[in-house]
Parts: sequence; structure tokens; C-alpha cells
Amino acid sequence: MVDAATATQFLDANPHFAKHYYDVNFRPKVVSDLLDNGRATAVDVSRYHRLTAVEESEILFDLVRDIQDNLQMEKSLFNLMRHLSFMLRADCMSLFMYRQRNGVAELATRLFNVHKDSVFDDCLVQPDSEIVYPLDLGIVGHVASTKKMVNVPDVSQNPHFSNFVDELTEYTTRNVLAVPIMNGKDMVAVMMAVNKMDDAPHFTTTDEETLNKYLNFANLVLRVFHLSYLHSCETRRGQVLLWSASKVFEELTDIERQFHKALYTVRAFLNCDRYSVGLLDMTKTKEFFDLWPVLMGEVPPYDGPKTPDGREIVFYKIIDYILHGKEDIKVIPNPPADHWALVSGLPTYVAENGLICNIMNAAEDEFFDFQKEPLDNSGWTVRNVLSMPIVNKKEEIVGVATFYNRKDGKPFDEMDETLMESLTQFLGWSVLNPDTYDKMNKLENRKDIFQDMVLYHVKCRKDEIQNVLNTRERWGKEPDECEEEELEEILSEVLPNARKVEILEFHFCDFEHSELDLVKCGIRMYYELKVVDKFHIPREVLVRFMYSLSKGYRKITYHNWRHGFNVGQTMFTLLMTGDLKRYYTDLECMAMVTAGFCHDIDHRGTNNLYQMKSGNPLAKLHGSSILERHHLEFGKTLLRDESLNIYQNLNRRQHDIVIHLMDIAIIATDLALYFKKRTMFQKIVDQSKTYENWNDWTKYMMLETTRKEIVMAMMMTACDLSAIAKPWEIQSKVALSVAAEFWEQGDLERTVLEQQPIPMMDRNKAEELPKLQCGFIDFVCSFVYKEFSRFHVEITPMLDRLLNNRKEWNALKEEHDAKMAAMEAAKKAKEEAAGAAAAARQGPGRHRRNTIQKSIFITPNPMFFFLQRVRPSPRLVRSARKMRIKTFHIKSFTKKY
Ligand SMILES: [Zn+2]
Repeated sequence: MVDAATATQFLDANPHFAKHYYDVNFRPKVVSDLLDNGRATAVDVSRYHRLTAVEESEILFDLVRDIQDNLQMEKSLFNLMRHLSFMLRADCMSLFMYRQRNGVAELATRLFNVHKDSVFDDCLVQPDSEIVYPLDLGIVGHVASTKKMVNVPDVSQNPHFSNFVDELTEYTTRNVLAVPIMNGKDMVAVMMAVNKMDDAPHFTTTDEETLNKYLNFANLVLRVFHLSYLHSCETRRGQVLLWSASKVFEELTDIERQFHKALYTVRAFLNCDRYSVGLLDMTKTKEFFDLWPVLMGEVPPYDGPKTPDGREIVFYKIIDYILHGKEDIKVIPNPPADHWALVSGLPTYVAENGLICNIMNAAEDEFFDFQKEPLDNSGWTVRNVLSMPIVNKKEEIVGVATFYNRKDGKPFDEMDETLMESLTQFLGWSVLNPDTYDKMNKLENRKDIFQDMVLYHVKCRKDEIQNVLNTRERWGKEPDECEEEELEEILSEVLPNARKVEILEFHFCDFEHSELDLVKCGIRMYYELKVVDKFHIPREVLVRFMYSLSKGYRKITYHNWRHGFNVGQTMFTLLMTGDLKRYYTDLECMAMVTAGFCHDIDHRGTNNLYQMKSGNPLAKLHGSSILERHHLEFGKTLLRDESLNIYQNLNRRQHDIVIHLMDIAIIATDLALYFKKRTMFQKIVDQSKTYENWNDWTKYMMLETTRKEIVMAMMMTACDLSAIAKPWEIQSKVALSVAAEFWEQGDLERTVLEQQPIPMMDRNKAEELPKLQCGFIDFVCSFVYKEFSRFHVEITPMLDRLLNNRKEWNALKEEHDAKMAAMEAAKKAKEEAAGAAAAARQGPGRHRRNTIQKSIFITPNPMFFFLQRVRPSPRLVRSARKMRIKTFHIKSFTKKY
């Protein structure tokens, strides 16, 4: 027997033996105890010693070092599994990560086929070649759902076993030992050992214990990883919310800008290569100009997918955020269906169903069949996709956000879903957050106040109506105290004769008439249309309505009451003289002429673009055809007042018809829509020529609601532009007032917006007017009047005058061009002469100054020639003197000299 002192002495003298002895007998136990942290284990440490004591001690130190050195979770686990497969005498081991996608749990291979001599890179499963198990499939799935270890001695006897991976990998699984790895109560992964070797029939309880014991390492590694991932998710989420909150709420006016701003700000926190936001058209009912091509059979009716609230799925804009490589943002308005962000059909699917869609391994998914090659020059391809709806508080889907390729190459998981969802929710809500509601309510209120004000200022007063209906003088009472017959008696005297004042003529000229005269002419048209008695329009109301319309127009250079009246008059003439009335009912004719009178009411002398650029509240109220919608609303506001409502005795159906036609007619005056209706109108004219019998054609047309609407819309354009088809002495004057109003807008653009106006609105380019008029006639007007003359020969006078005006403008243009060319030549000759002389006598500086001074001196204003050429008749000059407007534009020219 050796005592302690002797033993110590021996060990001190033989350190190699001491180390060996300790390694073999004790180190595993010490480490094991350290790891076990109190868990009761039935493992007898001495057994390890007998089995693989040396190796095990090596393994343990190896693993501890690994955790310290290696921050990569997969690498640490790989090392552990490599050792474990050796210790368990397993043919191989695999690790399956647990995650949730689309709210459904699944397991995905992360480390596959690990054995003693494996190389890490061979075993690490790349995201695009994962094998994914739903929890109801296979032994691994069973382990994940029961959260319990299983030891299956013979898989063929196990009901949970599925051989699909065997078939996939041409491998035969005989027996399995699998264990769940948990973080508290949460599933994290499943580790599995397959096929016991060394002729042993299956894994033993000893193997179970070994596995259980070493699981502590796996747990430690995974927990560290998982916690740091969770932490970063929480941090990211917090940041995203913080940013989107502060940025989104900052600006509430422009929805798109909000989306963009919020998404751009959070870009750094979105853990992906790229994302795109598709914005959905929110209009529930189509505008008439988009509906017509469908009704005309030119475009097939929409039968594509719709949003849950019934909107056609139209992505009107895509904002594409590229975060990989060189950061970039692309805005794609009206993206084509084959745009890479839409062509998969995934955003449409999401917009249709409102589901969150998480697709891993996009290459294998049928959604992404289109992806045959990289989507851009950088070689970028879609690998993983997370797509989700952006929903507003009304639960309408306003857009779809799609995230591509998580940065680490792994599929998007539950964390990403939650993160992105909270972001998209934020975006959606922000669009209609309480502040916006407040603002909209205020706008509503303002609208009410506006209505009161409009009526107060615009409505014909009691004293004013006496200018037409002089009941006080005539009958000694107010109009409302008179019988209709008494009012009729007055009107039959004060209203002008239609033939005499030429309101049935295309060449009608308003110059000789006062604004009040025009009011009376307007009333006369309702009589000529025979709608006053037919639709029981109270005479007092009719007079007050027309008078109020004239007051509703502002006293501006061109878009004043005279223009409004002229459009109504041309509509009246097209119907009566142009014989277009044959297709329309009296009710419809009344609506059309009324629309003509109302169509530019409360015009501000500036166009739609200016309203947008100057941030006019109207631009916020209406998305497109800003002013036209305002004119329409203004007109309807007047009609809502009972004392102005000429439609008050119509029945419900009749009322709906007139309002519907006015809606279309007034919006149709937006020239931006002109090109949409051109070909449809032309086809109707073509079609009319296929009828031999004019009556058959008329009968056919009268029932064709859509065709009648298209013709009416084109008539509105013909009326709105009718000044271009007036006799030259009228056209030349009106063109100047149009130009003068444009120049005034140009001045505003320069002073208020500090922008350079386009040539048409630049008074310094006034001499280009003849050229601009020629262009306007060629590109816009000639089609209208050519087609109408072809349609109804009665309308030819308009075309003839248009062509004559084209000649006149062209002559002026050529005259101007010739003058400019002559001046240019003279200038050049002088320059050359002066240059030669200067070169002979003086320095170049002096010579330059000379020429400039001269050129200023000799350039007369080209408008001077132009004004000389326009020689109005003495009668016109006289009437122009009476009118503020006409003298105004002459003054604005003379101001230039
Ligand atoms: Zn107009």
C-alpha cells in the first residue's frame, strides 16, 4: 500500500504519467459535473472511461475552446456533432432548425450527414438546398411536436417514419436517435443520429445518455446564438418603429411621399438585399374615360384579380429599394405587368388575398419561373421573398411590400414576418391616422363654409334679378310674388331674338354684347330648346341661375363669363344648327348646354399644373383634372340651392341623367383627356358612314348611351376650343386674350414659384404666338373640326374658319420668320463689317460692345408687326373699347414698349 506522500512524490517525479492518469480517470467527470449544473444524471462516469475516456476529454476541451473562439453557431455545432457521431458510433448526424413561416411551424436541415471525418462546408446546408419538414412528417417532426427524445431501434416499425429523405438521398435509414434542443419552452432545433454502426443493432440507453449530456453544449451554443438573434430582432424592430413613427407622422399630405420617406428611413434595418413597394390604385369605380373603351368593345372587360374590397388590382407605382451593392431607389410609375417586381404575380396574389407570403428558395417556386437569369447587371437573383399587404385602418389594402433575400442568405422567418408586418401596418395606418381624419373633417367643414360663401357672393341678388325680370317696375312686386304668366310676359319682351343675335350661328360673336346681354341670350337658349315648359323650370329660377353663373366666373383675362357663355352657345349651335340634337333627348340637350355654361366657372386664370406646383388646396382635394372637378363641383353647388336649381321639377331618374351627363361633359373639357377619346370618336364617325339611311343611323345612335357620351365629350372639346374656329377677326383677338392669360401665369411662375415658364407662357417669347397657334391647330384642333364636319356636314363652317385661321397664323409666322432671318443676316453682315473694321483699327472688346448695343436698338418687338396685321373692323374696335378685357390685353402688349 502506498501512502499519500509516496504517491505525490511519484506523480511529481512522473508528470506524464500523472497527466495521463488524470485525463483518463477524472477529467471527464470534472467537466461533466461542470456542465451538468445540477441535473440528475444516471450516467456512471466510469463507463465513459472504459469507452472513450481519452477521446472524450479531448472532445470536451476542444468544444469549450470552440465556443470561445467560434462565434459561428453552425461551426460549433458541427464540431460537436462530428465528435458525437464518433462517440455514438452513428453513421451520421443531422441538425434541423425549427422556425415558423406563414404562421406554420417547420423544420429545415441546417447540418446534414455529419460524421467523424466530415468537412464543415460539405455538411452545411445552403438555404437554397434545404430540406423542409412540416411538423407532421417524419420522426424529426414528431420530436419537435412532442419535444421529447426518441430512440427508434427499427424505423420500419415506427409509424412516424417517412422515407422521403432516404429516397431523395438514396440512403437507407435503419435506426434513429433524435433529441429536441430547447430554449426554455421554445423549440430551437432537433439533433438526430442515424444508423448505429459496429454491428450493434440500434442505439442504446447509454447512447441516449451520452447525447443528452452533450446536448448541454449544443444548448449553450444555440442559446447564445438565439438570444443574440432575438436581441437584434427586438432592436431592429424598435428602431423601425421609432423611425417610421417619427418620419411618417411628420408629413401627412402626400401618401406616396409618406411611404417613400418611411421606407427609405428604415432601409438600414431591413435585413434584406432589396425591397419594393407596389402602390395600389384606390379608386373603386372607374372614370368614364376608362370605362368607355370597355363599353365600346375596344378593351376586354376586366376579369383579373380584385382586392378583397372589390377594386381591380392595379399597381400604379412601384418604389424599388436596392440595398445591396450601390444603394439605389427607383420609382417606376405605371409599371408594366412584366416588370420584375410584378411578373411573379406574388404582389398581385398578396393584394388579392391579403395574406403574408413567405417563400424560400424562390428558384424552385412556380411564382418565380420567370427567373431564368439574373435580374440585373450585378447578377442579382431572387432567392427568398417575404411579401405582405399594407393595410389602412379601413382594412383596405393600399399596397404590397415585398422583401427579397435576407442578408445572411437564410429564408425569412417568423421574426422577419413580425418585423416587416409591424412596419407595413405602420405605413398603412399612417395613411389614415386620426390627424388625417381631422384634417379631412376640417376640409369638409371648410367645404360647407365655402358653399355658404359661394352662394352669398355668387347668387344673383334681389336687386340684380330686376335687371332681367323687372317685376318691381312692371308689376310692383317681387318675382316670387308673380305668376309664371306674368314673368313670361316680361321675358318674352326682354329676351333677345335668337336669329337677330345669331346665337344659332357658329360665327356668333360676343364682343357686341354686354355680360348681362349674354345672360339673356343664355336664357333664350333654354326657350329655343323647349325645355322651360317641358321640365317645368320656374322662370325666376332660370333667370337667377343664369345670372349667378355669370357672377360665378371671375373677371379674368380669358376664362371669364364670356368664355363660359361661348362654350354654352357653341354647344347649343352644334345641337341645333349642327343637327347633333337628333341623337339626344331634350333632357340631355338641356344638361349639355348647362354643362357648357358651367364648365369653367370660378376659373383662376391658371392651369392644373400651376395648381399643383403652387400647392393650391384644390390640388389636394382632387387627384386629377383638378380645375375641371372644381368647376363641376361649383356648378353643382349652385344647383343644390333650391332658388337656383333649374332641375328642381325633374323626377329622380331625369335628375340622375342630367347630373351624370354634366359630370362627364365638364370633366371631359380637361384637354389631358382629349387624346383618350379621339380614336373612339373617329370610330363612331366611321360607323355613321356605313349607314345608307340617316334615320336608321339616328335610331341606332339614340339608344347607344356610350357612343352618345363620347360624342358629347368631343362636342365639349369642340366648344371649348371654338374660338379657334371663329372668323379671323374674332380668333385673332381671342387668341391674344388666351395668350395674355398664359403670360400672366408665366409671370406668376417666375415671381411666385421662381421657375422659368414654358415658351407658351413666357411673355418674352410673345413673337412665337403665331407658331404656337399653328402647332395647336395641327396637333389638337384640326382633328376635332375635321371629324365633326365629316360627321355632320352642317358643322363644316367651323372647319373652314379653322383652316382659314391656320393660313392667317402661318402667314404671320412666315412674316416673322422672314423678318428674323433678314435681321439675322443684317446683323451678321454688320458684325462682319464692324469686325473687319475693328480688327483693322481697334481691340476686340470695343467691337463687341458696339454690336450688342446696336442689336438692342434695332430689334423691334415682333408683336408690333403682328398687331398691325390684325386690323379689326371699326365695329369691333368700338365694342372692344366697351370691354375691360379686350382693352386689358392690348394694354399688356403696349406695356412692353
Ligand atoms: Zn373652357
